[in-house]
Amino acid sequence: MTPRPVAIVSGASRGIGRGIAVALAQLHYFVVINYSDNLEAANQCLSLVRAAGGDGVTVRADISSPVDRALLVATALGIANRIDLLVNNAGVAPSTRADVLDADETSFDRLIDINLKGPYFLTQAVARQMILQVQQQAGADLRHPQIVTISSISAYTASINRGDYCISKAGLGMLTALFAARLAKYGINVYEIRPGIIATDMTDAVKDKYDAMIDQGVWPIQRWGLPEDVGRAVASIARGDFPFSTGEVFNVDGGFHLRTL
Ligand code: NAP
Repeated sequence: MTPRPVAIVSGASRGIGRGIAVALAQLHYFVVINYSDNLEAANQCLSLVRAAGGDGVTVRADISSPVDRALLVATALGIANRIDLLVNNAGVAPSTRADVLDADETSFDRLIDINLKGPYFLTQAVARQMILQVQQQAGADLRHPQIVTISSISAYTASINRGDYCISKAGLGMLTALFAARLAKYGINVYEIRPGIIATDMTDAVKDKYDAMIDQGVWPIQRWGLPEDVGRAVASIARGDFPFSTGEVFNVDGGFHLRTL
């Protein structure tokens, strides 16, 4: 039996990450389910992954901590000494929303450490491992490792009360471009997914605002996005459906990015 491909999904206990983990499980992946605090949610995700035909393990690791990132990578390698897919998904909203004229550095540093610096250096560590894998299996039946980063429509949409969040997501766009350019010669493709407004705990606090925007048709497909919508996009990448594309940005946003007159 072909061994299961191994995926790390950061922030997989809840929300979008959980949707991605389950979609990968449907492709029979072994999913390394990373979380930061919520063990119960991580265990729920593991049950869903197993029920969907995959397998997995939960790993508590704060993505902003170098020690924790090393633990996450080591755990993934302990499964089958390979990483076939990295999904950078973990992210946080600002602890308090503040106008760009008032926001302080404490909030900025925390958010950038989790949303941008963490994924950047996790990608670096995993990319080094993926290069080794590619070199070791040269000439064999090659499975191309891949990297996917979940950014946001906030990568290009200015929300003046959460500049730190927008900057972190814009930075993830460059993370994708940098690693796509660097890793292409190894056959490692790198992608960015920009979700629009997705129904998760993160958006629950501003549910009324987004309900009203849906009614107004602010994005053409007039509904909330679901974690499964993002999961399906990651699954199509994981299947290897885009072999001649790298650095590509997938908008999973109900058409929010369209300009209309
Ligand atoms: P969520 O429901 O708040 O879930 C966040 C996930 O990230 C949880 O699994 C959480 O683990 C984990 N996490 C938080 N801080 C972490 C850290 N320091 N280290 C490791 N894991 C950490 O968020 P979501 O809405 O699913 O968002 C997931 C990603 O999509 C984020 O990057 C977010 O910016 C992005 N996004 C969301 C939307 C949206 O509308 N929801 C739109 C565009 C982009 P615990 O369960 O242990 O807390």
